[in-house]
Amino acid sequence: MIIKLNKLYEEELTDCQCTCPLQGTSTPVKGYHPQQNVNIAFVGEAPGAKEADYGIPFVGIAGGNFDDFLHELNLSRNEVFITNTVKCRPTVGNRGKKNRAPYASEIKACSGYLEKELTIVNPKLIITLGNIPLRRLLANNKATITDWHGTLFFYDDAKVFPLHHPGAITYNRKLTNVIGEDLKVLKRLVTLQK
Ligand code: SF4
Repeated sequence: MIIKLNKLYEEELTDCQCTCPLQGTSTPVKGYHPQQNVNIAFVGEAPGAKEADYGIPFVGIAGGNFDDFLHELNLSRNEVFITNTVKCRPTVGNRGKKNRAPYASEIKACSGYLEKELTIVNPKLIITLGNIPLRRLLANNKATITDWHGTLFFYDDAKVFPLHHPGAITYNRKLTNVIGEDLKVLKRLVTLQK
């Protein structure tokens, strides 16, 4: 797994040649993988400023909330694969300061990388974080995390559990209880897949 992922990142992603609106706007952020095979993958939306700076998914404020999720699930970063649906940072305005959700054209352009990552890692359980990875894996652009959170579906042979994005609690505290309940259910699934 590690050799194949590194090959994908070094030979294709780092020098991405896709026709994509985000081409050249930031350095693509690779997935985070431990030095062992894992059964669980987390898929986020797209890198923010901190992720793009550090080249690691889920750092900064959302990253702190993400680590709290892992703690609730009795998991560490070294037991999971972590990546984003779109690998470069989308901003309001070209190279702007404010993050935005990726557009459909960017998700489509970057979709091959996520597909290859998931084929290589071959997780038994995928946890999507927020709207973007949910829509991508469900192949339904109208799906919302509000409707789908906690509802299992399959992507190839993997179970997919949609969870709210960890950044969402920062601006909507009312989600804390909803996410807490979802994490309780997810914890049981994680225990089975570890
Ligand atoms: S978002 Fe994906 S497809 Fe677009 S330039 Fe970055 S790596 Fe390439």
